[in-house]
Amino acid sequence: MQYRKDKYGNDLSMLGFGCMRFQKKGSKIDIDEAEKEIMEAFNAGVNYYDTAYVYSGSEAAIGEIFERNGIRDKINIATKLPQYLISSRNAIDRYFNEELSRLRTDHVDYYLMHHMTDIAMWEKLKAIGIIDWIEEKKKSGQIRNIGFSYHGNTDNFLKILNDYDWDMCQIQYNYLDDVSQAGVDGLKAAAAKGIPVVIMEPLRGGKLVNMLPADAKKHMKDSGRGWSPAEWGLRWLYNQPEVTVVLSGMNSVDMVKENCRVAAETEAGSFTEKDFETIELVKKAIKANEKVGCTGCRYCMPCPKGVDIPGTFRGYNLMAIEGKNQGRFQYAQTVSLTKEPCFASQCIECGKCEQHCPQNLPIRKLLKEADKALRPLPFKVGINIARSFMLRKAK
Ligand code: SF4
Ligand code: SF4
Repeated sequence: MQYRKDKYGNDLSMLGFGCMRFQKKGSKIDIDEAEKEIMEAFNAGVNYYDTAYVYSGSEAAIGEIFERNGIRDKINIATKLPQYLISSRNAIDRYFNEELSRLRTDHVDYYLMHHMTDIAMWEKLKAIGIIDWIEEKKKSGQIRNIGFSYHGNTDNFLKILNDYDWDMCQIQYNYLDDVSQAGVDGLKAAAAKGIPVVIMEPLRGGKLVNMLPADAKKHMKDSGRGWSPAEWGLRWLYNQPEVTVVLSGMNSVDMVKENCRVAAETEAGSFTEKDFETIELVKKAIKANEKVGCTGCRYCMPCPKGVDIPGTFRGYNLMAIEGKNQGRFQYAQTVSLTKEPCFASQCIECGKCEQHCPQNLPIRKLLKEADKALRPLPFKVGINIARSFMLRKAK
């Protein structure tokens, strides 16, 4: 295993264990199988284990496994506050204490505000008193590092990043999401502040393995590298020194072994020009079915009416690549749940954005098409309900 440093110089294994998707036995986690996988990873040097309050049964399962094997003090636990369920300081304490009890521990090594998408969410937490709470917990040693996990757009990521002295952050990032969500700009901004960046969805929930078009697989094969699709995705990440830990939701011992091998072998900066070319060809093949040739460059931004133009096209394209619901879900995550709405329907057709688009896209026309596809009536209703729930304290 290779290690990269956290903010305070501690070693973190480049591969982290994502504990969201353990195998099930009936309706419960198969604890014996999970134990085999975790101990395989531990013995190969993995020292970072990521869970969350809302990952059903996960905190309790890993707490039991760490205790059974006496390894709690040899590993780092990262877990998350379900900040979207919080409306008072008492509630923060309640969730945190429950997490400690489930995890059978007296401290959390990396504690994250879960699933932030908007600076308004952070403002809401500050209004409740989260900063005093964090400082107390860090002083008492119950929390060692504080961070946030993120799914909104780049602008809001940078706002949250720059608003507090964070110890770490966690972002969705992979070769297909290099300019969406926090994106490469967010990754570099965090790294420039000396903040370790933990990567989630390195293979887009397995889609960069299971849903690759034949052309993409052929480009990988023709490269002569002999790397599997998963290996290409992981190596692309480890190649970047700004990436600290890559989380992988491993649910078989073989997968643990393969991922540990790749993390042990790949050095930052080891990609050749030919490797980058292969990745570009793979991306092109995946994007061949896209509806809009938007590169996510953001030259069209900001829109005076607040429309998230690249975010909208990203969701629209994902509908074509990964299915309607996946595109709508991604759109809902990154565009729909911000305090100030940034829907395509807010466009007043001023045309300002089109003057800056290097792809010469007819943005106004395409936004109309995209909005219609991304927000059919039942989704509009669902999004409105989700907005009023998630943002209820941010108003
Ligand atoms: S045309 Fe629409 S999307 Fe483009 S800048 Fe004007 S309001 Fe914004
Ligand atoms: S300028 Fe054009 S290509 Fe770039 S993000 Fe905006 S719409 Fe997409």
